[in-house]
Amino acid sequence: MKIKSLIYFLYLLLLCFIPSKSVAQSKLVIVLRVDDVLSRNTEILPRSITPFQNAVEQRGGKVTWLVIPHRLIESANADGSLVRELKTTVSRGHEVAQHGYNHICLVCGQSGHEMWCPTRPLLYSEQMQLIQSGRKLLQDSIGVTAALFVSPGHNEDSTTYRALTDNGFLWISTTKSVRKDIFTGLYNLPSDAEYTWSMTDANYRSQLESALNHIRAEGEPQGCYTLLFHDYFIRQAYAGGIVVRWIGEVMDSLNLRYGNRVQYMTLSGAAQYFKTVTSLSQSGPPVIQSLTSQNYPNPFNPTTTISYALPKAGNVMLKVYDALGREVSTLVNTHQESGRYSVNFDASKLSSGMYIYKLTSGSFSEVKKMMLVK
Ligand SMILES: [Zn+2]
Ligand SMILES: [Zn+2]
Repeated sequence: MKIKSLIYFLYLLLLCFIPSKSVAQSKLVIVLRVDDVLSRNTEILPRSITPFQNAVEQRGGKVTWLVIPHRLIESANADGSLVRELKTTVSRGHEVAQHGYNHICLVCGQSGHEMWCPTRPLLYSEQMQLIQSGRKLLQDSIGVTAALFVSPGHNEDSTTYRALTDNGFLWISTTKSVRKDIFTGLYNLPSDAEYTWSMTDANYRSQLESALNHIRAEGEPQGCYTLLFHDYFIRQAYAGGIVVRWIGEVMDSLNLRYGNRVQYMTLSGAAQYFKTVTSLSQSGPPVIQSLTSQNYPNPFNPTTTISYALPKAGNVMLKVYDALGREVSTLVNTHQESGRYSVNFDASKLSSGMYIYKLTSGSFSEVKKMMLVK
């Protein structure tokens, strides 16, 4: 009897060391999206995005900040610290995206929605005005031209999509569950769930377990999961830094479970990655048109990500050259299985200008340009 249970125990132990198939084979892209930066509630301190950013960064992650542009010029932010923090966060590879203009509806005056109103649809000209004013504020204040848009109140219509594409936006994040172009040239990457809206010590652990279970159940099979946060630093939940502690624990668990299979991306980075993958899988087998996607961000300073997909295994070489054709860096030189890959390119030691990256695999090679602007 004793020996039997010992064998059973050893068998269970052995099972622990055999990774499950889905975990072993597929990448899991994790996106961290923070909405409503910055709220008007100035009572809860610190009013800073840095603690959250640092907790994420220490664990290899990236944050996507959904900034309400008008907040940057409101009196609560007159000391300029928010603008400084946002500039810093962008320079460290996190993303700033646009969340409407001021999050107040110009038709009915309510806050909570903006691009779409139950009273009457906003006209194309009205939506253009909101989108362009917000975009200009982000450009003037923090020097960022946002490529990604999220509609305040999660409400928008096809007029919004048209206005966004007419302004050159590439990506959107909505509550629609589809991960694809929801309008010609406007790719959607939805968020999956939010756990920290009203976090307390009492629900901290159950919310942690819910998030990890949901990532396992929904994120693993679809290869992607977007965790949503709301203006975490001003909500009650921020007291004692509870949300910062929470995201740290979530990421520690993910890193432990998935190792380097987990890939943290900005929302735009992930959208670009999946758009490339989808167009490749739709084009069917062997017809190889393009393996690499345009690096993101581009122009960049000083880091950017190059993604590519291999339809079959082989020796892969990814090199970077300067404008005169001199080799600057070898990013990949190894045998790789078929699948999708992303590589970071750090140009902090290089000077501004055009660079070229070349991917070679078997008889296939492809060249793309990218721009470093310091
Ligand atoms: Zn309204
Ligand atoms: Zn919002």
